[in-house]
Amino acid sequence: MVTTIDLRFQDRDNAIAAFVLKTKVGPVLIETGPHSCLPALEAGLRKIGYQLSDVQHVLLTHIHLDHAGAAWTFAQQGATIYVHPLGLPHLHNPEKLLTSAKRIYQDKMDSLWGDLRPIPIEKLRGLRTGERFAIGGLTFKALHTPGHAIHHIVYSMGDVAFTGDVAGVKIGETGPVVPPCPPPDINLQDWEKSIALLRKKMYSSLFLTHFGEVKKPKPHLRELEGRLHNWANWIKPYWERGIPIEEVLPVFIAYVEKSYDLLNMSDEDRLRYELANPPDMSVGGLYRYWSKKTGKAT
Ligand SMILES: [Zn+2]
Repeated sequence: MVTTIDLRFQDRDNAIAAFVLKTKVGPVLIETGPHSCLPALEAGLRKIGYQLSDVQHVLLTHIHLDHAGAAWTFAQQGATIYVHPLGLPHLHNPEKLLTSAKRIYQDKMDSLWGDLRPIPIEKLRGLRTGERFAIGGLTFKALHTPGHAIHHIVYSMGDVAFTGDVAGVKIGETGPVVPPCPPPDINLQDWEKSIALLRKKMYSSLFLTHFGEVKKPKPHLRELEGRLHNWANWIKPYWERGIPIEEVLPVFIAYVEKSYDLLNMSDEDRLRYELANPPDMSVGGLYRYWSKKTGKAT
């Protein structure tokens, strides 16, 4: 059984989740969330009878701070951190991750993400593409699923999957499915292939870090693919004309808001989407995608 813990990111519910599986060797934690959310994670674990130090296995879908920011604290308590080999060096030496995050978030860095420290190499376990591994009687398969991040893994477990960000963001029953598109790795072709892989697996449920269980993967993935293309193609002409990101941002926000209006989304829900998937990140990420694809700088 999967326990979903709401990490109450920025004091809001349903924006960032972590998942816990009970096994004979203690809890397996999938995603740690940001370091700033550790108290909520601790409270969630306590509710099901665990302490933070009981967690000896942490599975990360990718190393972005909203998914992996607290991994180092578990490593300090002896946990093994599972990650894609391309993400592993950045957890061992988070200098680069920290520098780029500080550049983006500036003085909000601490309140958003908290602290970030290196993880000793012996606590990091790189997973090969398609690798199967077992923990306490549960078997997982690591599916390499780039598109959102080059080092993204989906953890397949029986007929369910923990999809990180590659299966998009969907908050609440009626919320739209949106693709989080932050720099620097967005790649539409890779993402399409990853979606096709998930579709082929015919999962009964997907567990999204933003936020929770999706019981109808098929229409969900169709909506994700549609919106991914829609956003990328919407942004392309602005990029082609060399319009600065800060000028596109309000127009993009208005465009996204219009689709939210059609769904009669509440202000609370809009805020959750913004926290899980900041629009300025997506404009930046898609600009970078088009630049890389065409080999032209903006
Ligand atoms: Zn995320």
